[in-house]
Amino acid sequence: MKTHAQVVVIGGGLIGCSILYHLTKLGWSDVMLLERSELTSGSTWHAAAGIHGLHDNSNITRIQNYTMNLYKELEAETGQGCGIFQPGSLYLAQTENREHQLRLQEAKAKYYGLNFYEIGRKKAEELHPLVNFDGIRIIMYEPDGGNVDPSGVTHAYAAGARKRGADIHRFTPVIATETQPDGSWIVKTPDGDIRTEVIVNAAGLWGREVAAMAGLELPLIPTEHQYFVTERIIEVEKIGRRLPSIADRDGEYYLRQEGNGLLVGAYERDVKLWAEHGTPGGFGHELFPDDLDRIEENVLRAIDRVPVIGSAGIKRVINGPMIWSPDSNALFGPVPELKGYFCCNGIIPGFSQSGGLGQLLAEWIVTGEPHLDMFSWDIARFGLWAGKEFTKERVKDQYSNRFAIHFPNEERKAGRPVRKRPIFEIQKNLGAVFGLNFGWEHPLWFSGSLNTVDTNGFKRQNWHKPVIEECQMLRSQGGIIDISNFAKYSVRGELAEKWLNLVFANNMPKEIGRSCLTPLISKRGGIAGDFTVTRISVEEFFIFGSGMAERYHKRFFDSVPILDGVIFESLTESLCGFNVAGPLSRKMLSTLTNSNLSNDSFPFMRSKKMKLCGVEVLALRVSFTGHLGWELHCDTTDQEKLYLGLIKSGKDYGIGLVGSRALMSLRIEKGYGSWSREYSPEYWPQEVGLDRLIKEEKEFLNKKAYLEIRDKAPREKLCMVEVLQVDDADASGGEPIFSLEGKPLGRVSSGSYCGGVNKSLALAFIKGATAGDNVNVMILGKPHLGMILNEPPFDPSGRILRS
Ligand SMILES: Cc1cc2nc3c(=O)[nH]c(=O)nc-3n(C[C@H](O)[C@H](O)[C@H](O)COP(=O)(O)OP(=O)(O)OC[C@H]3O[C@@H](n4cnc5c(N)ncnc54)[C@H](O)[C@@H]3O)c2cc1C
Repeated sequence: MKTHAQVVVIGGGLIGCSILYHLTKLGWSDVMLLERSELTSGSTWHAAAGIHGLHDNSNITRIQNYTMNLYKELEAETGQGCGIFQPGSLYLAQTENREHQLRLQEAKAKYYGLNFYEIGRKKAEELHPLVNFDGIRIIMYEPDGGNVDPSGVTHAYAAGARKRGADIHRFTPVIATETQPDGSWIVKTPDGDIRTEVIVNAAGLWGREVAAMAGLELPLIPTEHQYFVTERIIEVEKIGRRLPSIADRDGEYYLRQEGNGLLVGAYERDVKLWAEHGTPGGFGHELFPDDLDRIEENVLRAIDRVPVIGSAGIKRVINGPMIWSPDSNALFGPVPELKGYFCCNGIIPGFSQSGGLGQLLAEWIVTGEPHLDMFSWDIARFGLWAGKEFTKERVKDQYSNRFAIHFPNEERKAGRPVRKRPIFEIQKNLGAVFGLNFGWEHPLWFSGSLNTVDTNGFKRQNWHKPVIEECQMLRSQGGIIDISNFAKYSVRGELAEKWLNLVFANNMPKEIGRSCLTPLISKRGGIAGDFTVTRISVEEFFIFGSGMAERYHKRFFDSVPILDGVIFESLTESLCGFNVAGPLSRKMLSTLTNSNLSNDSFPFMRSKKMKLCGVEVLALRVSFTGHLGWELHCDTTDQEKLYLGLIKSGKDYGIGLVGSRALMSLRIEKGYGSWSREYSPEYWPQEVGLDRLIKEEKEFLNKKAYLEIRDKAPREKLCMVEVLQVDDADASGGEPIFSLEGKPLGRVSSGSYCGGVNKSLALAFIKGATAGDNVNVMILGKPHLGMILNEPPFDPSGRILRS
């Protein structure tokens, strides 16, 4: 066995083999995979291996389509059979919400040029004569849906990788991983040590155990999962061709042909966790005892839909383990705290995603960044706060709701609260309805009464009207918004300014008290983040950024060596903040402080330390609402005092509590972009209007990459669209946009009914259309007439903001 490899992949399941294959495809042949047993020895060998193309997340749709198309190529390239059957899939909607979901997916498919469209009942009956379509509202057909052979696909990836020079060692368990002073790793096996620059943890069911070797705890827990295969069914055999698979998600089962029988699998409500505290090292090719009673209800629904199942004998039951993350998305990408350590764990639909995940992880290793924004899959979306209890409750919730619709703006309750601020109970008693942001509970809106919960759906919900009222209150008097869940950092030291200038693309403020906005540039020249940086003394800077991206941004901060004596510290836990904004905010705040808040004394983008409500605060004259306003940051221990003081005084001015849903809507009507929506590594600064903040005369992180794309014409431009045909739903993000003639033009990044200007608005990336053009926004998957605006409807000149 070699003693050195550029990359060591741990785990020879479907995913590890795909990563190895894609590394070699990108030209890295000095790569090695270590498998403790035979290839496919985890979840892979016993999977039902169904493949689907469409997903609610657009980038995952792209990944899944890449994967579906790859299998045939892989088979041809390697000569290894992949057992591909693509008789198509029929997606059934039993409810109105499912219909909206499928129509939206159909619109996205049209936009991305994918094969997924509605068919009538007659056509569906021709395709699958054994299905009873009674009670089905609409049927979508995906001609490329189907299934593959788990072992064939895994061995094909392995064969392709070997052909290009990769080494695969079976029966070679990794027993330790040790980081070295030079940043490399020693991977220990019973057959000897291997030194490597990069480790990939693709150990599937044992992902936690392999991570623990590097001192890392992964939020993963396995569950049992069952499907069964029937004996030969004469009616299936008689049809004499492969039947399409059935995605009857409202019935909470999946169904496809297997041989001349049918295969039925289910995600039951009564989830059974397995190996909660660690996957046994000796677990191999075992299955769990059959427990079909657990999935009886789901199976009965499958029988109602396809009656021949009811009289078929059962040939084989598979009850095997699969391992889940708290949101059932993969834990993907480099671990921010460990140099050269990548994860690709917790993959549920592995056969639908293996190719895309392998391709993007290989890209990340070889080029430093994947070409698609993977933030929703990035391991950095979870922090240490995602502990065992949270993970357990979330996994139970995810498994038992596997086929439930996950609506835009949905907040799942399981496992919460995990991170609370001192005023949590006060806010609760004031009628706050909470959401989760990087573990923090934060008010989404205020219902005014205890224990209100969000209703969920694609149409307007119970929070629609209250959020409009909060927006209107802020625009006419003012509002108090808890912004404690945003990330805050202090950078101090003699060389703090120099270091920050090396990190950020804008020049750091020279004058004490001044703030600047700055982009952070990603490896491919896109937007890795947007920050407000304030100089609070000669040697200290206060930085304000996206809360959910705190661990994600750590990768970028860590990639610029810290200069002598510079201290970088996260203040997210120790500081809290409120944004007080609106036309009366100055008047109200002036009664709470001796500091002068007039425009002359405290202009826009300036800061001051002051006492307010008897509390020391750092006040910044900025507001994401786009209105005159201040951000007030105080010690967490003072949060309650400041909050109660603001509320009391606010009452005299008609200034009340505003939640983050209203904040999001206010920033949309002002045209402000937000991290992970408008700002992402996929978008270039000139596409989102942040190029004006980039200072080319100095060095900054990834400047070279930026210069390479700087002169390229924007592929799409960030625009404001007003939805003119307004009914009872608004855009929320992801909706495609077409010309009136049906030409794909772009897609919505954020959308909302904007109560401050009383318009249904969307921020969108558009190509080939200009201000004044009419377009169709595919809200609920159906065309809604809209118009591209040439400026944001609220305060386009910035006069109100600067007043
Ligand atoms: C019953 C069932 C049905 C399923 N049906 C479908 C489906 O229809 N469609 C679909 O897309 N997905 C399905 N899945 C999910 C799919 O099986 C997984 O997504 C996929 O197999 C995950 O592959 P993996 O490579 O991440 O993990 P694994 O298959 O668990 O592979 C991990 C590998 O790492 C090795 N390993 C672990 N520790 C070490 C170590 N220390 N040193 C060296 N090697 C190590 C293991 O031996 C193993 O071979 C199903 C799963 C189950 C359980």
